[in-house]
Amino acid sequence: MNINQNYLALQDSYLFSLVTQKVNAFKEQNPTKEVIRLGIGDVTLPLAPAVVEAMHKAVAEQGEKSTFKGYGEEQGYEFLRQTISNYYAKKNVTLSNTEIFISDGAKSDIGNILDIFDINNTVLVPDPVYPVYVDTNIMVGRTIIYSNGAEENSFLPLPDENTKADIIYLCSPNNPTGAVYNKEQLESWVSYALQHDAVILFDSAYEAFVQDESLPTSIYQIEGAEKCAIEFCSLSKTAGFTGTRCGYTVVPHALVKDNTSLNKLWLRRQTTKFNGVPYIIQKGAEAVFSDDGLKQTQENISYYMENAKLISETLKELNIWHVGGENSPYIWLKCPDNMNSWDYFDYLLENAQVVGTPGAGFGSNGEGFFRLSAFGDRVNVVEAMKRIRNLK
Ligand code: PLP
Repeated sequence: MNINQNYLALQDSYLFSLVTQKVNAFKEQNPTKEVIRLGIGDVTLPLAPAVVEAMHKAVAEQGEKSTFKGYGEEQGYEFLRQTISNYYAKKNVTLSNTEIFISDGAKSDIGNILDIFDINNTVLVPDPVYPVYVDTNIMVGRTIIYSNGAEENSFLPLPDENTKADIIYLCSPNNPTGAVYNKEQLESWVSYALQHDAVILFDSAYEAFVQDESLPTSIYQIEGAEKCAIEFCSLSKTAGFTGTRCGYTVVPHALVKDNTSLNKLWLRRQTTKFNGVPYIIQKGAEAVFSDDGLKQTQENISYYMENAKLISETLKELNIWHVGGENSPYIWLKCPDNMNSWDYFDYLLENAQVVGTPGAGFGSNGEGFFRLSAFGDRVNVVEAMKRIRNLK
């Protein structure tokens, strides 16, 4: 037998393990110094009370013969798909329930969607990037080309008419940069995709963090996107579901490629390889969109966004170039004094005991940049900013 050789082409994901290794070594040598972590991409606030209550009720239902539920529809319960359709309606996007697929989170679907595309498609991925887009394509041996994020375009690369891509990844608000595309910029991507018969894979995992109402929070707010885009969203960051696991993927009926409905292909793929998200979790997810659930999760988002503001205001004060933080929980800064990403990591750890994520870990265009996350505790964020201010 032979293994899938493509797996051997994957680079070790050493980023977070190297961060941990360096922090542990520092702590061993400096046991009295308190290290503050602003590197993590995980949330820290608990689930909203409305969500917990709904899940408790669902647990009780599962313990009664009359309300017990076994296998559900692979694509998710109607009640949750309808709730998400109503959520999109508030964004002026009309979706039918059969265009919405409930998942155990965006990461799985972002990888799994590749099942329905030919291996010979060329994939266009932004650099810097959420590493899952790259690795899932390397695993199947697909050709990857990159669109360049840089200081000059504020890390929002736009289509290049001379580049031929079949599958285009866009992430807005972006991880790791926190940059957010405006309407005109997304229009140019949709126009490129329609012209070149390409499919956009739009990752909107951080849509709930957008504060500026003029910015799109779904690709379907752009005319024509239903003919060229699939959208992935997640309750992980919106509602603290990183450990609870629930997301959703939208595949419009109007999305037809190679004379074939991608919605039909995805349904076939999901009903074959996936058996749905637990009833209890879907009930919790439904509660996120209830009046109480929305209010409570919004309070958590506001807490994180206040952290983001504190970070970005400190950087402004220090004249450190950065993007993100106004409509996203990530702040992407240019390392001062032309330091490279890992040098700045070491500098911050040693001199301020603040931990961030080196930009170089997200792609070669991330070299010289650094990601700070707003998902930490307020007290820690305030203290970290005080220490960074005192460095100068
Ligand atoms: N997409 C982006 C851009 C992310 O940053 C993450 C998680 O960090 C995900 C998707 C994965 O989300 P989920 O927890 O729903 O799998």
